[in-house]
Amino acid sequence: MNRVEDIYKAYLQCDSVSFDSRKLSGKSLFVALKGTKTDGNAFVKQALDTGALYAIADDPTLEGTDRVFVVDDALTALQDLARHHRRQLTIPVIGLTGSNGKTTSKELFRSVFATRYNAYATRGNYNNHIGVPVSVLEIKPDHQIAVIEMGANHQKEIEFLCTISMPDYVYITNYGLAHLEGFGGVEGIIKGKSEIYEYARQNGKTALVNIDDAKQVEKSVGISRIITFGTSDRADYQITLNATKPFVSVKFRDHIIESRLSGGYNFSNIAAAIALGAHFGLSIDEIAQGIAAYTPDNNRSQLVNTRKARIICDAYNANPSSMEGAVSNLAEFDGVRVAILGDMYELGDYTDEAHQYIADLCEKLRIEEVYLIGEYFGRVKTDKWKKLSTTEEAVEFFKSYDPNDKTILVKASRSMALERLYPILGIEA
Ligand code: ATP
Ligand code: MG
Repeated sequence: MNRVEDIYKAYLQCDSVSFDSRKLSGKSLFVALKGTKTDGNAFVKQALDTGALYAIADDPTLEGTDRVFVVDDALTALQDLARHHRRQLTIPVIGLTGSNGKTTSKELFRSVFATRYNAYATRGNYNNHIGVPVSVLEIKPDHQIAVIEMGANHQKEIEFLCTISMPDYVYITNYGLAHLEGFGGVEGIIKGKSEIYEYARQNGKTALVNIDDAKQVEKSVGISRIITFGTSDRADYQITLNATKPFVSVKFRDHIIESRLSGGYNFSNIAAAIALGAHFGLSIDEIAQGIAAYTPDNNRSQLVNTRKARIICDAYNANPSSMEGAVSNLAEFDGVRVAILGDMYELGDYTDEAHQYIADLCEKLRIEEVYLIGEYFGRVKTDKWKKLSTTEEAVEFFKSYDPNDKTILVKASRSMALERLYPILGIEA
């Protein structure tokens, strides 16, 4: 018997996979990964003492320890284990990637499928070279369908993640301007995301394609099975926008389907979930129930009414495309609109142009008040908008700000931590 089969037998006795020796269930498989500061190998013995049933480690001095599999590289062993598990699964697996909207789409897919099936979906944002194998290993024998989110910030990453998740259905949410630096420009992003199509082409899998996105249509040519959705009557599943305020609703087969998501850019996320639900035989009622049941509570496009104002909490993350979508959405609200925007990272040479573009867009869309926070926005040329150099400075500034009756968008890259403004703007924790 080879090593992966040995480890797989151990995995089957466990109920979870863990890297943190402080967070173990009674039957964990502990994987000793190397972080930037710590080496999991140092915690193997403690993990086995405090709950782990087995451990995978790559420190040769642990050789011979009871219940420890010593391998050349623990991360590779984890990925091989996930591949082995994936090959045993016979349920449909949907794999999705894209620049923006992966987690939102994934949650909508889960919510729709859950109305009929025991559906698995990636936990949180666990979408990288560690998260994808863990997600695959979380698919249990009683799951009937699974959705795996795959993220990437450089070439060949999606190709690699597909070798682990081996999706039967693939979907790209969109090609946007995210991780420009790592991908090497716009063409690089399109190429990198399209690796999921290449996988589908080579392995005879099915692609879900947004017919309104010319790039998706172009790049998916040659895939043997394609399911299309979108506003065109040429789509297999025709879905049109009904309203965007306060939440997005869409029309499908003469029914209005209401979501709890704010922002017109969520249209394609919702439409994709409807198309997939319909493809898997769900009724319109089930689909509608699934879409309505998903309320974002994760700081992504979350609309919160406070006593004094309406806040669009989108401080989870930002890049030029999602920022443009969010500002355009804000512009659609009535009354005084306020954009509190923080720096966008990972843009390389495109940094100044992108920040200038967003500041100018706010002016073009006649947003009443704009606050630009951070070093990059600090370099923008504008005599109209207020600049604040750091999140700390913004926190101080907004302490004396009156949000009265305004609609306020808060958005920035993750590390700006602009959610620190929420309590100051009147959102209760
Ligand atoms: P990550 O790369 O962090 O995993 P993600 O692709 O999973 O991100 P989400 O977390 O679903 O994306 O959404 C992040 C933000 O992207 C949202 O808050 C929203 O501002 C924006 N967004 C969501 N869907 C779209 C879309 N279809 N087009 C453009 N922007 C979108
Ligand atoms: Mg995500």
